Amino acid sequence: MKIIKVKAKSIFTKTGLPGSDWTINQYVGCEHNCLYCYSGFMCRWKPYGKWGTWVEVKENAPELVKGNYVRGWVWMSSVSDPYQPIEKKLKLTRRVLENMNKRIKLTVQTKSDLILRDIDLFKEFKNIEIGLTINGFEGKIKKLFEPFSSTHKERVHALKILKKNKLRTYAFISPIIPELVNVKKCIKETKNFVDYYWFEILNLRASGEEFIKALKTKFPKSYKVMANSEKFSEFLEDLKDIIKKENIKSAGIEIHFPKWKTIKV
Ligand code: SF4
Repeated sequence: MKIIKVKAKSIFTKTGLPGSDWTINQYVGCEHNCLYCYSGFMCRWKPYGKWGTWVEVKENAPELVKGNYVRGWVWMSSVSDPYQPIEKKLKLTRRVLENMNKRIKLTVQTKSDLILRDIDLFKEFKNIEIGLTINGFEGKIKKLFEPFSSTHKERVHALKILKKNKLRTYAFISPIIPELVNVKKCIKETKNFVDYYWFEILNLRASGEEFIKALKTKFPKSYKVMANSEKFSEFLEDLKDIIKKENIKSAGIEIHFPKWKTIKV
């Protein structure tokens, strides 16, 4: 893993991403190296090699957040995972959180149970929500799609502990792939520990050539549904039914979809 240490000029970036006004990326690049990662486009601007083989570390991020207040929601992080393995050693995310104005409205999203380490800091924030990506990938699929992140069980457990600590939590059910993600099971296993859900259907276009090739060759049934508009519409209808049947709304749990693919439930 190539580690590139840099000094950044600024740390909060304006964004049009749903649910947030700003992003913060103390890291750029990600050791989790998910095959479908939508952030691979960053390689166009960062000449360090293939996505997943490098991490840029903004060493001065903790200093940059100090005394810096922004209005609106801040999303940590959009082109990295704040709790990727290197965080265990560097504690950069932890130092950013320590120095951050605790009135900032913050969303932290990860695929790692390392997030549990910072519960003490999360509790200091007035408005904070913590999300874990949940998709149930295990075994060979996990190895292929998300080789270096926490296991499904560890992520569900993390949500449970965060909720036990009275933090606002959500499950980011993503990427929803026909035949490969059991949304019903994901909901059942998490609904006692979350305040809301994001349901994000795989964005095939953003997932990159390597992923599309893998899906096509190893999971042709899934690919066919994604690539055929009629089949895809049927799949969305089924998904709608699954979500409805789980009575999420009546249990007081909110439901969100990213702008690119919203379905009415
Ligand atoms: S954890 Fe997120 S940022 Fe990291 S590789 Fe996976 S999808 Fe990309």
